Amino acid sequence: MKYFIETYGCQMNVHDAERMSGLLESSGYDRTESEADADLVVINTCSVRERAEEKLYTRLGEIKELGRDLGRDPIVAVTGCVAQQEGDKLIARSAGVVDIVVGTQQVRMLPMLATHALTERRPSAIGHPTRVERALIAIENPYEEPSFPLGIVRRSDPVRAYVTIIEGCNDFCAFCVVPYTRGHERMRAKAEILADAREAAASGRREIQLLGQIVNHYQAPDDPPCDFPALLEAVHEVEGIERIRFASPHPRHTSERLIAAMRDLPKVCKHLHLPVQSGASRVLGLMRRRHTREQYLDLVARIREAIPNVQLSTDMIVGFPGETEADFEETLSLTAEVRYHSMYSFKYSERPNTLAGKRMPDDVSDDDKTRRIVALQALQRSIQSDLFQRSIGSTHQVLVDATSRRREWELTGRTSGNTVVNFPGPPDWLGQLVDVTIRRAGPNSVWGEPAEPTVRRSLDERAADVQRP
Ligand code: SF4
Repeated sequence: MKYFIETYGCQMNVHDAERMSGLLESSGYDRTESEADADLVVINTCSVRERAEEKLYTRLGEIKELGRDLGRDPIVAVTGCVAQQEGDKLIARSAGVVDIVVGTQQVRMLPMLATHALTERRPSAIGHPTRVERALIAIENPYEEPSFPLGIVRRSDPVRAYVTIIEGCNDFCAFCVVPYTRGHERMRAKAEILADAREAAASGRREIQLLGQIVNHYQAPDDPPCDFPALLEAVHEVEGIERIRFASPHPRHTSERLIAAMRDLPKVCKHLHLPVQSGASRVLGLMRRRHTREQYLDLVARIREAIPNVQLSTDMIVGFPGETEADFEETLSLTAEVRYHSMYSFKYSERPNTLAGKRMPDDVSDDDKTRRIVALQALQRSIQSDLFQRSIGSTHQVLVDATSRRREWELTGRTSGNTVVNFPGPPDWLGQLVDVTIRRAGPNSVWGEPAEPTVRRSLDERAADVQRP
């Protein structure tokens, strides 16, 4: 039996897909990269934005079409946040395309449900299997402990390993669906996190990315004094790991100890994704973000003072209910002041169950939202482009994380600050740290060339390889 998996949304979802792949493979399924070959198609969904949800229904329509063309219907499983949120409504809305719905806390049920659905299929009058009579739904038990058997995850990235440390969130920001789809906050045991990190290092991964909805709220359930900065120190000790990243911290939990840990631990990347969501304290209050513009700017100043080469990125929402032109101007001025290296920006859309969705009229017109997002993105592009231009001539350590599919000897990697760098080099540099000098800048990434000592060392190593018998 072959499975095909497609995933949308955040790194947490990408990591859930890795978990599902591992579970399916340990149950005897083989992965295929073509949905036309698959017996089981898994769509791992995101519901943070309305558009992500719409995409699911479009994809389900396409899968139905493909099944018609091929004369066979694969089993279709929908997992992730939309599955958790919609449950059996999803079955009705998908007009019978979906066989299995698996919520965010029930990932481990997928192989069993898939096997059940496949064996339930009966030959129809025209000789093709029919759909299962009733779809299978597993969305209950939303508060399962966030432990996961070691060694099952099938990591999709050859260089980077995602390690979940917290699941769920208790903050209930007014716009956010996560507490309703991922449940309340649950901390993973420190011992399990370290075991995962060691296993990732042993499998050749060089970078660990620690994941949590509010990653810096971590407190180890099995070692109470261990908070997030202490966890960073513990992961820093894992041999073979060269870089540590984390996503996403909340501004109000970004303590002096965390800033000091980022400054003092060389493996911790000098990049902080610090979601702000709006530049106006009034809107932040409506959003229930529990920080003001002033507190955020003060935090940014303290981070930059401690770590001058840090690169910052953020999330921003425009057109939140009640946002005025003056509020939006504050978003623009905060963006200009902080000068982020990158930004994820979105037009507000109502999400089910959220406080804003239930109690705040979506009163900013779509035209105004569009005008605001266009202005914000134009400003961000100009800041980014200026920062990239200024980086020309500087040399950075880049962790090579991909080789180009189109061009031989073209590599891609990231600096500690998370800038994507393209540069020429041999494919066997994948997973290595290479010093690269930036030569050219584009809107989203930069181009460089390996700095001299790296080139010489590499050529010497290659010469030594050739001389070996
Ligand atoms: Fe959502 Fe707010 Fe929790 Fe982040 S902190 S996951 S935005 S509720």
